[in-house]
Amino acid sequence: MRFENKTAVVTGGSRGIGFAIASRLAKEGANIAILYVGDESEGLKAKEELLKFGTKVEQYFCDVSNFEASKQVVEKVIEDFGGIDILVNNAGITRDKLVLNMDEKDFDAVIGVNLKGTFNMIKHTYKHFMKKRYGRIVSTSSIIGIIGNAGQANYAASKAGIIALTKSVAKELAGRGVTANAVAPGYIGTDMTNVLSDKVKDAMKAQIPAKRIGTPEDVADVVAFLCSDDAAYVTGEVIRVDGGLAM
Ligand code: NDP
Repeated sequence: MRFENKTAVVTGGSRGIGFAIASRLAKEGANIAILYVGDESEGLKAKEELLKFGTKVEQYFCDVSNFEASKQVVEKVIEDFGGIDILVNNAGITRDKLVLNMDEKDFDAVIGVNLKGTFNMIKHTYKHFMKKRYGRIVSTSSIIGIIGNAGQANYAASKAGIIALTKSVAKELAGRGVTANAVAPGYIGTDMTNVLSDKVKDAMKAQIPAKRIGTPEDVADVVAFLCSDDAAYVTGEVIRVDGGLAM
């Protein structure tokens, strides 16, 4: 099993793409720490599901946009699990509006969770990875961070920021056996996209060369590769998982 004796922290791991990633890593032997911010019962449900794979699983309440809370949770995970090998920055939110109607709060909230949250988690695991001369950091960007999108200026900026952050961290840590990569999903069926109208969904589907909406597992497969030793010589990379949408 590729992740035996490895510990992975997955932010936003109790549902959607994050849960698929946590499941995939656990299935291949990883111990899992999921961070959640919403309903505790959802987190507990996810934990129960993940325990079926037979590895250690804990859930932690943590708003990743909070610098101090992220620091404390990383310290707690290291204490509980004895270390961290894999960090998956998956937590993300949207507050879609045209810039015309977007207020400061909408902008700050999205940058705060998506970009600063990713920075916070990398910042607090950085020294730990450096010291053990091993680490896998995979952050969830989006094709919107590459091509932009009307109505998503805040989201696009946060996801483009994740790409720049990833490449910079990759350069800083490459000599220490630590890789930092990003995935850029296209249109994936989760709670985040279920709120879109059928008309918007159909229009998006029609544009996807693969002619289907992606699944959380499509993303999890690529994240698992980037977390594995098969990807030891891959760093600073951004892999689109979009059925060809942003080609
Ligand atoms: P969901 O809305 O289904 O899930 C979002 C997750 O993020 C939840 O687990 C949520 O936690 C967590 N989260 C939100 N805010 C915080 C916070 N402040 N601190 C900690 N955790 C938080 O989204 P998806 O599964 O669709 O998306 C996952 C990632 O993939 C996001 O970064 C998203 O931007 C990205 N992505 C998604 C695409 C899609 O089409 N779905 C396309 C491209 C990128 P909780 O469960 O506790 O509420």
